[in-house]
Amino acid sequence: MTAQIIDGKAFAATVRGKVAEHVTRLKADHGITPGLAVVLVGEDPASQVYVRSKGKMTVEVGMNSYEHKLPAETSEAELLALIDQLNTDPAVHGILVQLPLPGHLNEDLVINSIDPAKDVDGFHISNVGLLATGQKAMVPCTPLGCLMMLRDYHGSLSGLNAVVIGRSNIVGKPMAQLLLRDSCTVTIAHSRTRDIEEVVRRADIVVAAVGRPEMVKGGWIKPGATIIDVGINRIDAPEKGEGKTRLVGDCDFASCAEVAGAITPVPGGVGPMTIACLLANTLTACSRANGLAEPEGLTA
Ligand code: NDP
Repeated sequence: MTAQIIDGKAFAATVRGKVAEHVTRLKADHGITPGLAVVLVGEDPASQVYVRSKGKMTVEVGMNSYEHKLPAETSEAELLALIDQLNTDPAVHGILVQLPLPGHLNEDLVINSIDPAKDVDGFHISNVGLLATGQKAMVPCTPLGCLMMLRDYHGSLSGLNAVVIGRSNIVGKPMAQLLLRDSCTVTIAHSRTRDIEEVVRRADIVVAAVGRPEMVKGGWIKPGATIIDVGINRIDAPEKGEGKTRLVGDCDFASCAEVAGAITPVPGGVGPMTIACLLANTLTACSRANGLAEPEGLTA
């Protein structure tokens, strides 16, 4: 069997298109423009790239983008003061603090100082609790993107066996909560899981969020299963020339695609969905803040 490729790049473009349509309507019917504020502390090169690309896509869907670039030595008090100001700014509907923060800043404290209604990353402790109890939450972008792709491919997820590999707060745990909400039978595997291959082999849906290049092999996969590969790992690629690298996922694409029914590639799978879902979350936050209906198909 050769798996169907779930094209995250194309899917993300569709999601951004839907967001843009909603934004146009919000402006025309209500005079409201959703606004996303992104806060970057320090000069981490990868973070700078992410922030630039988030800003560009925010503007492309017709939203306002507010970038706050602060020096690495910014104090906690200064950062909290900025967040406080953004929390009360009616033009700002979403606030994202780019992680990781420099070591002297307490990430939990900073994230939990964001107004939960504007917490478009879904990392605030209130949103974690709301998601876990099945209430209306802001849902972390990467798991939300995975859920959208799974719903699109399967329709209903009810009753399917799902194995999430990885238990991080930003991917594994919220992913498991979302799958549970959609009535999957969910197992979370992690570094201490015994017989992980056997556990994964029972899954109709495998979500791999581990950070280990090509760890999941085709032999672990139940024939016909759906694989969502969240991992982004840079490895050496001597075949491309000296010193060259390439990106791979947590799943060994070639062997997994032989067995699975569907699989997301890396790159071009989950990655593009993450920013698309950030925009979707900003739209959702703006709609909720103005007492308007939430955009259909763009929330959990
Ligand atoms: P973390 O490092 O926070 O978590 C990794 C998880 O994998 C942990 O729960 C760990 O278990 C588990 N793990 C590690 N080794 C093994 C193993 N040998 N067998 C089973 N489980 C193992 O990573 P993140 O969740 O933040 O990210 C995971 C991957 O997803 C990374 O490659 C990251 O780059 C990528 N990512 C991609 C995004 C996107 O937009 N596409 C967004 C976010 C992340 P334990 O808890 O026991 O240590």
